[in-house]
Amino acid sequence: MRNRQVAEGWITDFLASETKAGRRVLAGFDFAFGYPKGFGKALTGTGDPFAIWDWFEERVQDDPKSNNRFDLAGEINAAFAGIGPFWGNGLQRDIPHLPRKGLDREAHGMTEKRAAEACTKGAFPVWQLSGAGAVGSQVIMGLPMLARLRRSFGEKITIWPFEPLTTPIALVEIWPSLIAKSIAATQPAGQIKDAHQVQVMAETLSALPAKDLTLLLDVPANEEGWILGLGHEDLLMQSALSASLPPPLKNDCFAMPQGANWTPVDDALEHLRKELSSVVATQEILIKDAAGRILAANVQAARSHPPAPNAAVDGYGFAGPAPEGINRMPLVDGRAAAGAPFAGTVPAGHAIRILTGANLPQGVDTVVLQEDVSVTATQVSFHGPIKQGSNARKAGEDMEAGQIILKAGRKLTPADLGTLAATGVGAVRVYDQLRVGILSTGDELREPGDDASDGQIFDANRPMLAALVAQWGYSVVDLGRAPDNRDRLRTILNKAAERCDVILSSGGASAGDEDHMSALLKDTGSFALWRIAMKPGRPLAMGQWQGKPVFGLPGNPVAAMVCALVFAAPALRVMAGGDWRNPTRYMVPAAFTKSKKEGRREYLRARIKDGMAEVFPSEGSGRVSGLSWATGVVELDDPAQKVAPGDPVAFLPFHSFDA
Ligand code: AMP
Ligand code: MG
Repeated sequence: MRNRQVAEGWITDFLASETKAGRRVLAGFDFAFGYPKGFGKALTGTGDPFAIWDWFEERVQDDPKSNNRFDLAGEINAAFAGIGPFWGNGLQRDIPHLPRKGLDREAHGMTEKRAAEACTKGAFPVWQLSGAGAVGSQVIMGLPMLARLRRSFGEKITIWPFEPLTTPIALVEIWPSLIAKSIAATQPAGQIKDAHQVQVMAETLSALPAKDLTLLLDVPANEEGWILGLGHEDLLMQSALSASLPPPLKNDCFAMPQGANWTPVDDALEHLRKELSSVVATQEILIKDAAGRILAANVQAARSHPPAPNAAVDGYGFAGPAPEGINRMPLVDGRAAAGAPFAGTVPAGHAIRILTGANLPQGVDTVVLQEDVSVTATQVSFHGPIKQGSNARKAGEDMEAGQIILKAGRKLTPADLGTLAATGVGAVRVYDQLRVGILSTGDELREPGDDASDGQIFDANRPMLAALVAQWGYSVVDLGRAPDNRDRLRTILNKAAERCDVILSSGGASAGDEDHMSALLKDTGSFALWRIAMKPGRPLAMGQWQGKPVFGLPGNPVAAMVCALVFAAPALRVMAGGDWRNPTRYMVPAAFTKSKKEGRREYLRARIKDGMAEVFPSEGSGRVSGLSWATGVVELDDPAQKVAPGDPVAFLPFHSFDA
């Protein structure tokens, strides 16, 4: 919201519509509701905290471009002995009685902090009006708004802790920093810190069991006000964490029974499906921001679609059916259009002009297409028969109010936003965007565009995997390149664990001398080396670093890409809160010949030409360009087989791996 005026309008409307709907609201405001003891008496002559609210409300002038808060503070100071208590003139011009520095104050007689601030670390006193972290101006500018809310909601509103909370609307003072420490790690990439704190605070309070909320609210009435939750930080932080975070994955979630044989692809997938679950918190967002996000709860239609019977075409409405032969009907005066319904009743045997989307007037259940009639000023005629209900849509024929239209776990498509909007759903609960760290490992790697010797290669995996992950709708955290050095890799992983939910690395995943990813994960006790019966392959190094799942993909770009599609796509989707997905397989005739041996699955870079699947001429796994040539892969199942041109094979488009 651009400014306080807009915000105040929104809050007022919101409180009004919530109370009208019969719901109760606990609204938290992040500024002090009162001043240190004695200030009210000095300013207004009474100890009533609301007298301060009204005092400011009468005098504060506030518009989006300017306000009089510094002058007002100067005026208040003038009425006090000594210098102060307000300070922090943030303007160029000097203001009488308003010092620029806190230390310039003296003998004003006021306590520096409220009791509430005195027992917190990092809370600023209400006297300081400017400078980083200052809150004094927010109080002066905020109280008049609270005074107006109080006046306009009268009997329906009470203010904590000044009054017992007995009304549908309760205003409380909150301080989102109370839970800042416990939720810093759950902040979604790119989200503003305050927004995250406020969101989690709101969700925490609303999820709090009644007995805990009662405990938080149990504060004696006093003129200074109090911060909700102060003194109960542990309880609050605990609930903030559990309200916002799902249970962690088991440390051994990647442990697979290790036989002498290589693991079939399907067994590995089944293992991921069984062991993985969502690792992210949830939030409510507007549907306009929800494309690609994953629903955290089932969504019901807010109302039926269409809400009332209406016309599917432009034409003439009447009570059907119309018998065979020529029908002539006198026209009713007026018309029915979308958004402009016809209020009267259409008598039997009459017709009315009606346009697409218009609600059917009383007496109308059938519409004849305007192309099929001849019409005069007073009469319409057309050939029957026309069945009752023709060209008319029934109320709720698309969706019924209350019906579940989209299920939790669904990744929202553009069409879904249309469906949600059509039934009046404006906001949905979704999972926070999964933060996926992308890391390349290897001493030989250089950044594309930089100089490189013959012994060095350019890092192809990082941009490729990052783009893939972004395409799946997750937020990419670029972890850069790690050299083949265990300590450096450890440091990188430590940092990554703080800001990622999952880490996708490539290279160093086998069991060789320079395979440091495997070596480090081994020390955590969560490591599993997955030898999967597939081509292109090489082992996957699976494990957790400080509780964050790590997928160690092969270094070879073709193998890295195919393993990312086959394993990371479904795994990330589940960890992001989504449902398990198998890629769509299209059976198409092969345009190639191939004979493969038994015991492993093969993925061939492929594309469709003239309705047939052709494959990249070389199966060499170093041929990155083949990935660009292809639009998907042909999947050849585990048993031995000979494929001849025309034989049906499974084609899996790249985009179907997370569709
Ligand atoms: P590694 O799994 O580390 O033994 O790497 C296997 C092969 O993939 C080696 O030839 C590496 O040079 C190559 N490779 C590893 N990482 C990348 C990368 N990010 N981009 C291109 N090639 C890579
Ligand atoms: Mg390497």
